[in-house]
Amino acid sequence: MTHYDLHCHSTASDGSLSPEALVERAISQGVDVLALTDHDGTEGIDAALLAAAEKPITIVPGVEISVSWNSSTVHIVGLNIDIENANLQNGLAEIRDYRQQRAEQIAYRLEKAGIPGALEGAAQYASITMLGRMHFARFLVEKGHAADTKEVFKRYLVRGKPGYVPGKWTDLSSAVNWIVGAGGQAVIAHPLRYKMTGSKLRRLIEAFKALGGQAIEVSSGHQHPDQLRNVASLAKHYDLLASCGSDFHGPEQSWSELGRFLPLPASCQPVWSRW
Ligand code: AMP
Ligand code: MN
Ligand code: MN
Ligand code: MN
Repeated sequence: MTHYDLHCHSTASDGSLSPEALVERAISQGVDVLALTDHDGTEGIDAALLAAAEKPITIVPGVEISVSWNSSTVHIVGLNIDIENANLQNGLAEIRDYRQQRAEQIAYRLEKAGIPGALEGAAQYASITMLGRMHFARFLVEKGHAADTKEVFKRYLVRGKPGYVPGKWTDLSSAVNWIVGAGGQAVIAHPLRYKMTGSKLRRLIEAFKALGGQAIEVSSGHQHPDQLRNVASLAKHYDLLASCGSDFHGPEQSWSELGRFLPLPASCQPVWSRW
């Protein structure tokens, strides 16, 4: 059976493996089809396609777009997008500009909390184009402020902590329009990670569907079978296609691996049934 992993990150965003190394690791983990879905950019796609040429793996061009919706940050994955699409690329470039401003604010706040040099420090872990909280997390681990990136988030980078800056991302309709306009399928990523109430999540799904969104990530890495059943029933109820992916960021995160997540339940119609 073909094994699909439709959500992961490379050094083009906040992953720690290059696109080439990611492709090699995916093959060794038994993945047949891999979507590279870096945050707010597609710079890694060409390298991944090149690395996969004449190898037993297919690369799906993807992206994971940061969205603000009703005071929550939501991630919308785009699959099978045309990365040459100008509208999509202009939109992503705007988000990355905003990332730079937010990074300056994060660094300012960390400095006030007694941690200087975070902007330069985080940038050492980042690609030229995309700066995110994970890069700050790696810098803070390097400086000994926490044992691992998970702990950094908990102590410094989430709501109520010294380095937290609420994200002001793009709106849901822009993200869906850019993806669909670039010939892709829009997918609500890891729907249970937003910690929304059931009714807010249903409102998100309804808004997303009304805008032309097609799919929801039913299976993601590190998920309890009850959660899988919960999202599968939402997919069925709202007649959305189902996606699955590990959201792998690198081998140092021992709880996550390429290709590793629960299989989609038989009640789901996979997103690839339309490919
Ligand atoms: P950003 O888009 O720059 O705000 O960063 C979001 C990224 O940070 C996510 O894609 C994850 O890679 C990482 N992240 C967010 N929250 C956590 C957390 N609690 N623990 C570990 N990593 C996290
Ligand atoms: Mn990430
Ligand atoms: Mn995400
Ligand atoms: Mn992700």
